[in-house]
Amino acid sequence: MSLTFNHRTALVTGAGRGIGKAIAESLAKNGVTVICISKSADSCGATAAAIVAAGGKAKALAVDVANGAAVTKAAADLIAEFGTIDILVNNAGITRDGLLFRMSEDDWNAVLSTNLSSCYYWTKHIGRSMTQKRWGRIVNIASVVGLMGNAGQANYCAAKAGLIGFTKAIAKEFAARTVTCNAVAPGFIKTDMTAALPPEAAEKISSLIPLKRLGEAADIAHMTTFLCSEEAAYITGQVFTVDGGMVM
Ligand code: NAP
Repeated sequence: MSLTFNHRTALVTGAGRGIGKAIAESLAKNGVTVICISKSADSCGATAAAIVAAGGKAKALAVDVANGAAVTKAAADLIAEFGTIDILVNNAGITRDGLLFRMSEDDWNAVLSTNLSSCYYWTKHIGRSMTQKRWGRIVNIASVVGLMGNAGQANYCAAKAGLIGFTKAIAKEFAARTVTCNAVAPGFIKTDMTAALPPEAAEKISSLIPLKRLGEAADIAHMTTFLCSEEAAYITGQVFTVDGGMVM
């Protein structure tokens, strides 16, 4: 099935590396103009340059998504420049793992603000132009651990479970304006985030996954791209696990 995009504009956070980069490139291949956001100007700049080199349209902007004032300003500037942003992919995320009794308040706050509050900031400021235009797609990148929990990741699991609740609330709030909001919950995906896993641990995880491999960033990009397309018009408020069958 080929997907329809009608020359939309998308904003993808965390587009400098890993899953966000794959999503930005996949949307651009479908004719979408992509605004690539990351923390460092170098990483989002490299993604935007790769998209342009491949014949697509992209802009890079370094924004700390955990900083509400910075997101508010960036969103206003981008709406002024692009008129409207039709697609928002809230993907930027970090981990600061540790068992609860050893988890510092800084690690708790950093994960909650980067992985959850950021989605509130972007959705609030970009979502308005979608509701006014009566068309929009929002995809939030959650995690299977937001559904099942994981020892040593209380901050991350709380943020991802919160993001799933946020997704469903926004789906209900925005539905009357034909704006959909869904979540994708990846399992273990090969990116910088999981690169620190010792090979034995990665092998053990693979053996527990029904499809017997870790995921690729492209696996998440495929599902996200579909959810952003015209063809996904009748899907909202859902959580799609893309995890090789880990959670079922
Ligand atoms: P990654 O390779 O570590 O890349 C993270 C991206 O987020 C980078 O581009 C980074 O910017 C950006 N970012 C982090 N903090 C930011 C901030 N404060 N402001 C702006 N940008 C920021 O991560 P990934 O594995 O692709 O993960 C992407 C998303 O998928 C995350 O939400 C993660 O929780 C989720 N996820 C991943 C997995 C997995 O197995 N990898 C599993 C489940 C869910 P810089 O490039 O500038 O550093």
